[in-house]
Amino acid sequence: MSNNTFERTELLNIVKRIKALVGAQKEIADKDGLMLNLSSPRLDKRINKMVNKRVNKINRPKLTKRSFSVKQITLDDLRRTVLNCRKCGLYKTRTNVVFGQGIKNAKLLFVGEAPGFEEDKQGIPFVGRAGQLLTKIIVSIGLKREDVYIANILKCRPPQNRNPLPSEVKACAPYLIKQIELIKPEVICALGSFAAQTLLATTEPISKLRGRFHIWRDIKVMPTYHPAYLLRNPSAKRPVWQDMKKIRQAL
Ligand code: URA
Ligand code: SF4
Repeated sequence: MSNNTFERTELLNIVKRIKALVGAQKEIADKDGLMLNLSSPRLDKRINKMVNKRVNKINRPKLTKRSFSVKQITLDDLRRTVLNCRKCGLYKTRTNVVFGQGIKNAKLLFVGEAPGFEEDKQGIPFVGRAGQLLTKIIVSIGLKREDVYIANILKCRPPQNRNPLPSEVKACAPYLIKQIELIKPEVICALGSFAAQTLLATTEPISKLRGRFHIWRDIKVMPTYHPAYLLRNPSAKRPVWQDMKKIRQAL
């Protein structure tokens, strides 16, 4: 017997008992000459209503307290968490956490490696020389910095801009993934081999990855050269421009 059938049978028994009790009370009342209005059809209706209410309650899927109280976190909530993060050793040497900058529902998200000296000082991504070049790249496709979102794989600067350690990426990458889930960009531009290889979980060099869209969780990912690399190798500007045109078309 299913739980519901069992509950219904039990309820029917309860109804029978109530009716018997009411009947008995009516008899007593009649005997005592009390004017009790216990006409059967009305009582039946009321009892049926009570039972239906109870049965509906049983049949309805249980809404636990949790399903009421689970609140989707916002980008601001996430920012507050990350600003206090101490999940890896980089918190000891940082000046500022660099969470990210841009509009919450940006169609285009740029992902770099990690904050450098200027970014650590200001708490804003891509504000040094490479950042100024990135701003120009954004403008070149008809957008402004304010129209996109800019973030990094690591939110804290590695000392002397050394390469991020795998343990640091493991600790910090979930924050970027949450950012992506909340922003829901249409296109991600992965800047440089580190961001591209981390996002796409590959060891292929950036020269092989760039130039075409890859798919990460339904989102188009265009890897391209890092603006810091462009500062040292101006001839790489042309392929970056080609990649940017593809991004512009996809938006
Ligand atoms: N390089 C990066 O990868 N990110 C920054 O925010 C600045 C420089
Ligand atoms: Fe936390 Fe990331 Fe900073 Fe490490 S780098 S302390 S994981 S925010």
